Amino acid sequence: MAETGPYLLREVLESKGWVPFVEGETPYWNLSWKGSRYRKSEYEQCQPFQRLNHFPNTAIITRKVSDHGLDSLFRLLRTLKGIYGSVYDYFPLTFTVPGEFIRFVRLYAEEENNGNKSIWICKPADLSRGRGIFVFRELHELTYDCNAVVQRYIPNPLLISGYKFDMRCYVLVRSYQPLTVYLYEDGLARFATSRYDTSTLKNKFSHLTNTSINKFSPTLDANKDDVGPGCKWQFSRLRAYFEQRNLDFHKVWEKIKGMVILTFLPIAHQITVHSEGCFELYGFDILIDESMKAWLLEVNLSPALSVDAQIDILVKKPLLEDIISLVGISEEDASKALKHAQASEHCSTRQPTAEDAGYPFPSSVGKFTRVFPVPSLAKYAGRHELPRVGEPLMKQVVTDIKKIYFTH
Ligand code: ADP
Repeated sequence: MAETGPYLLREVLESKGWVPFVEGETPYWNLSWKGSRYRKSEYEQCQPFQRLNHFPNTAIITRKVSDHGLDSLFRLLRTLKGIYGSVYDYFPLTFTVPGEFIRFVRLYAEEENNGNKSIWICKPADLSRGRGIFVFRELHELTYDCNAVVQRYIPNPLLISGYKFDMRCYVLVRSYQPLTVYLYEDGLARFATSRYDTSTLKNKFSHLTNTSINKFSPTLDANKDDVGPGCKWQFSRLRAYFEQRNLDFHKVWEKIKGMVILTFLPIAHQITVHSEGCFELYGFDILIDESMKAWLLEVNLSPALSVDAQIDILVKKPLLEDIISLVGISEEDASKALKHAQASEHCSTRQPTAEDAGYPFPSSVGKFTRVFPVPSLAKYAGRHELPRVGEPLMKQVVTDIKKIYFTH
């Protein structure tokens, strides 16, 4: 990993006895961790005792906008909603601008004529951490000088003491073939630092929940009723708060599981990397509304592992420890690597299959729970390749997922 790589990861690895790889000095390596993706050749050359923290070709779900085809999350989900119906209705209605400006204006005018004008949020395509985002109601307020998305604003978020929050959920894909996805039990609820108020759409501290924005709020350290000081909670605190108020956390969590599976299923067959060595951590940003519907706002590639506050250490350090356990680099791998470095032998990579005696990946590790495959969906996971969009079997999987995760 680069010197500038996540400090917390370096700390976790060093505490477990790992040593940094230095080109030309250290004979071999087991884990490579980068913020950006790898080159094709790096995937191809990955050995069974080595791990890379990305997969090739998964940008489709982590991009806000792309100009062609289905290659951005909202386009993919919009298409899937067209095919499979409301089960895929967990992403706010989205347009790209300038490409779909006319389409957006048509809908805007229709709503205006019907007297039910929505609130909209505009997000520049190439920025993250809340930069350049604004919320608006009037068409003339929409200005942009780069590709952006205009999305229907969720106007009725569930509030805690009047403050908006979203959930940063950590999802780890251990393998795309067979698709193997884990959801981390812990995470961060991230709060806005001004009370939610739709009469002042310009107040970023009221409408955006990014920590990178709210850490500059004058009320960050103030005691904000039930929220308290700061702008983050661990999920354990959110869970306890829900229980006190008779809000069903379990039900929301089940929906999140369903959304995670529905998002990865249609793209899994495209990721054809024949290596056990890849894994990827994603950050799913989820907003819950007053009716307890969970909305997916974004899937982040390389979610932040930086530390702004003590709570980041409490969540992210065990997360990284569990990732290292889950990706399974054992002493045996290290010695294989050493042998490889000494003899320069080429070990053949093995593609795990669900038919292996016993599934090749555990059902849980630390706070990671495998959400796909699970016994209730095992009949689909047993295939070498998952059903593809458009195949009758895909319809059946989606129906089963709906039954299991969305109807209670
Ligand atoms: P970024 O990549 O810049 O963080 P996000 O899509 O995560 O962009 O949006 C930033 C924040 O804006 C979210 O954390 C959330 O608080 C708010 N937000 C984004 N989209 C919506 C929406 N459709 N409805 C309500 N709030 C939203």
